[in-house]
Amino acid sequence: MNTRLYYHDLFAEHLTGPGHPERPDRMKAVAAALEAEAFQHLDRVEAPEVALEAIYRCHPEDYVRNVAKAIPEEGLARIDSDTIVSPKSFTAALHAAGGATAAVDDVISGAAKNVFVAARPPGHHAETATAMGFCLFNNAAIAARHAQATHGLERIAIVDWDVHHGNGTQDIFWADPSVLYASTHQMPLYPGTGAKTETGAGTIVNAPLASGDGGDEFKAAFIERILPELEAFEPDLVIISAGFDAHHRDPLANINLTERDFDWATAQLLDVADRHAGGRLVSLLEGGYDLEGLALSTAAHVKRLMTG
Ligand SMILES: [Zn+2]
Repeated sequence: MNTRLYYHDLFAEHLTGPGHPERPDRMKAVAAALEAEAFQHLDRVEAPEVALEAIYRCHPEDYVRNVAKAIPEEGLARIDSDTIVSPKSFTAALHAAGGATAAVDDVISGAAKNVFVAARPPGHHAETATAMGFCLFNNAAIAARHAQATHGLERIAIVDWDVHHGNGTQDIFWADPSVLYASTHQMPLYPGTGAKTETGAGTIVNAPLASGDGGDEFKAAFIERILPELEAFEPDLVIISAGFDAHHRDPLANINLTERDFDWATAQLLDVADRHAGGRLVSLLEGGYDLEGLALSTAAHVKRLMTG
């Protein structure tokens, strides 16, 4: 079975204004990285639009209406200090979430062994009723609830190695022991959450890193905390919130990972998926703001997925 890639031209039409780190060029960098010979067997599919009911499992209807209302007819509008939207942003977000739910369908039906969704806007900062941190809808959370509601899977693991803590995903699953949320992230850093003591219903696993940490500390966080929790949880599906802003080149944080560290973590999670989830693994792009670091990291990640 193949690794599938979901993309959509709309993802580059979500405009955030000059100088914004979460910018359309990120999609061009990812696309260029995946044009290399090594990726010729990637199964490339345009991300469909999500069914609104899939969003409503994570965000209330009036929240979704308010996001739609915030979209300008032209130019840019600001939802919070750093979350900017433009005329195509709502539709782009519907396709970003649609790629995530379609990816779940694919790994369950067997249409794909695993899937990478190269979408923006990202999702992991979007809380139940708050858009923030460049995020409108929480794609990983929507994918997890979709797997449970439409496919009857019970236990879903979301592993988030974006350098920022996924406060939104933690918020949505805070009281829900059927979803394990495990995160490595720099602390202190935006958004400020993610302490080890934040454990929710017992299935929130925060493994914060300190400014200046690198691959050794990142691997230790996986080996000592995240991987044992995943083993014990025995997930039916593994979802990765794959941000690549812990790369040493990234301008928004100060963690010194290389693309080889993302390759290593991908291999670990493929093993977890193989042992417990029939190999079912869905990876969703979150952050990553240095274009070269993003391209190198995405290539290493997807190359490893293709061996899975
Ligand atoms: Zn981030």
